[in-house]
Amino acid sequence: MPVIKKELARLNTSAKKNYGQNFLSNQSKIQKIVDEILRNSSSDIIEIGPGLGAITEPLAYKKRDIICIEKDKVLIESLKEKFELKKNITLINEDVLKIDFKSISSENSIIVGNLPYNISTKILIKFVNELYQDTNKGIFMFQREVADKIIAKKIKKNQLSSKIKIFYKVQEILKLSENDFWPPPKIKSSVLLFTPRKIELNNLNMKDLDQFLQCAFYSNRKKIVNNLSNKYDKDKILSILKNLGINDKARAEEIDEKSLLKMFIMISSNKF
Ligand code: SAM
Repeated sequence: MPVIKKELARLNTSAKKNYGQNFLSNQSKIQKIVDEILRNSSSDIIEIGPGLGAITEPLAYKKRDIICIEKDKVLIESLKEKFELKKNITLINEDVLKIDFKSISSENSIIVGNLPYNISTKILIKFVNELYQDTNKGIFMFQREVADKIIAKKIKKNQLSSKIKIFYKVQEILKLSENDFWPPPKIKSSVLLFTPRKIELNNLNMKDLDQFLQCAFYSNRKKIVNNLSNKYDKDKILSILKNLGINDKARAEEIDEKSLLKMFIMISSNKF
């Protein structure tokens, strides 16, 4: 019987699908994730969904402060038992979507997690929306299909991936297969590292940027000028494209993030 299955049986529970519970079982992959977390952080660690502690436990011995947010009551109890004597571990039994990342993070905290697949995108959006002006890095595991969309350079690029790449440099640092977990999920996974780019929106805000990107990507087959002219002045858009040296036939997915940000800033100013 696999060790994880045994441990769940001892706790009188089972892997819950609605909590996205696929536990990491490949020790060498666990070590690689732990090494990346340590390499990319110097201070405290916030872990989303520690589960049975696959990543938490090796980190705990590195004397870092770790805040763990776990929704499953049974797993929280088992983590309490496991880390009873460890003063550097704080356990929070809560839905991560209800947690204010700003209130629990400090300047150099890193946010990490093998995310529950069903809410991984929601968690990522929350991370970006709450911390985009801060210095916090993130290391998250996603299902491969989602990770590929986030890192997509051109085709498949969308509103979300562009928004993320405006604020973060995103790198794939590890690939995982179904058999690296128990129970094995039906999909492959990837771990991505998010490093903040320190972009200030000044007097502009995230809501306006979201609206701009939503409009720019509204219909993927259409030129960006046609999508944007649903909301903004067409002549202004054409003059901005010219100013930035972007072909007026370009679609949003063909425009890099830096240029999209410049377009947003110019569109929001009265200069054009
Ligand atoms: N970190 C462990 C590992 O790698 O083996 C478990 C990862 S498992 C893919 C996802 C974990 O997130 C589970 O422990 C699950 O109970 C927890 N979880 C699911 N939904 C959550 C939520 N809304 N808030 C916090 N934790 C959640």
